[in-house]
Amino acid sequence: MVTGLGQCCWDTLAVVDSYPSPDSKAEAAVWEEQAGGPTATALVALARLGIPCRFAGVVGDDDAGSRIRQALESEGVDGAFLATRRGGASQRAFIMIERGSGRRTIVWRRPTGDPLDPREVPDAFLVGSSLLLLDGLMADASLHAAGRARSLGIPVMVDAGRMRPGMLDIARQCDYVVAAEQFFLDLGWDRTPGHFRGLAAGLGAPVVTVTLGAAGSLTWSGDEPLHVPAFTVDAVDTTGAGDVFHGGYGYGILQGWSVRETVVFASALAAMKCRQVGAQQGIPRLPDVSGFLAR
Ligand code: ADP
Repeated sequence: MVTGLGQCCWDTLAVVDSYPSPDSKAEAAVWEEQAGGPTATALVALARLGIPCRFAGVVGDDDAGSRIRQALESEGVDGAFLATRRGGASQRAFIMIERGSGRRTIVWRRPTGDPLDPREVPDAFLVGSSLLLLDGLMADASLHAAGRARSLGIPVMVDAGRMRPGMLDIARQCDYVVAAEQFFLDLGWDRTPGHFRGLAAGLGAPVVTVTLGAAGSLTWSGDEPLHVPAFTVDAVDTTGAGDVFHGGYGYGILQGWSVRETVVFASALAAMKCRQVGAQQGIPRLPDVSGFLAR
């Protein structure tokens, strides 16, 4: 069982031939709605690989909230700790993808209403968990859950998308920090492996990865940083690639794989996702990943 505490979102995605300039219009070639959000998407990736999952987060009592809840349920993710805020609006994102270049622009809104309170993630949330995933948006509840997980002997992994209040405190409680490039740039990274090594060591977690989009990832686990290139695919949309990477990374941890095996698997899963529009639609199942890796 993997538990996750963090963001769940209802995404609207539009694919355009080229980005509209300010004060102009563009007709979308594709217009889609689907579930997303970092932790929810990582859990959906794990669920498709056959891992039981439990999610804690917040939605509003709006249409998007019902859809987010339904999407989790239909993937078999336990939503017993997904709180509904009366009168609140769920997290939403509008994502515009430029066909050809694959560039994407995201406008998002965090859920309105109170963030998850530490009392809403009691130890019952963590029962049976072999790994806790966080994305750090709800810092108080995340710190609380990370501390409890540690004392219960459950490894903790954070998806550090960017520097947020409380993120460094959360990272210190983690066994794995898997960050987007922006997080390290926020720390002042000069993009060299040597500087990454120093910054990663300073975070206090034993294993630290930074993902670099189509350039792959760098992982530090006490030695020289390990570069794992991205797999080559016909990428149509990289939305959620990092989230799916986290799901694959979690899968490797559960299997007891080496850091390299884990990162290669995570990279394969993320690359396969990029072949379809949206965070979750293109997430593969285990036999497809095995086939992809055996190519
Ligand atoms: P985020 O979605 O958090 O910005 P990244 O863009 O860094 O994350 O992507 C996470 C991982 O997904 C990368 O390390 C890489 O393995 C994979 N990935 C991202 N973009 C591509 C791509 N265009 N082709 C293949 N794999 C990709």
